[in-house]
Amino acid sequence: MELEELYKEIIIDHYNNPRNFGELPDANASAEGANPLCGDEIHLELLVKDGIVEDVKFHGAGCSISRASASMMTETIKGKKIEDVRKISEKFKEMLFEGKEDEELGELEAFKGVRVVPIRIKCAVLSWNVLEEALKKIDKGG
Ligand code: ZN
Repeated sequence: MELEELYKEIIIDHYNNPRNFGELPDANASAEGANPLCGDEIHLELLVKDGIVEDVKFHGAGCSISRASASMMTETIKGKKIEDVRKISEKFKEMLFEGKEDEELGELEAFKGVRVVPIRIKCAVLSWNVLEEALKKIDKGG
């Protein structure tokens, strides 16, 4: 299987079976965002304890790219330190906007192909922007 095909399959799989989809009643940080150009909406809820993302859930409606990206994002950040989460977010954006690659991104490299359709970059980056909003609230103490 070619890499491009594999990437497509990963995205379709996350779209059809989104991980960490739903609500998180004991969340202590949340944020939401939309991409009006495409109609994507993401609500994100986090449970952060001692600087670690203990649990995360998202819900909302959107296209395959935005939903798969949110699903993969939640899977990636769960159990990680906030400082590491921020680093990955930065690297993910560098890949989308500048075409940089990084081993640490792992499966997230599936979104590399989005670069050729600039309008879809906003779909891929939406959940990460929402995540950063939620993390900012934690910095301010909730
Ligand atoms: Zn979209």
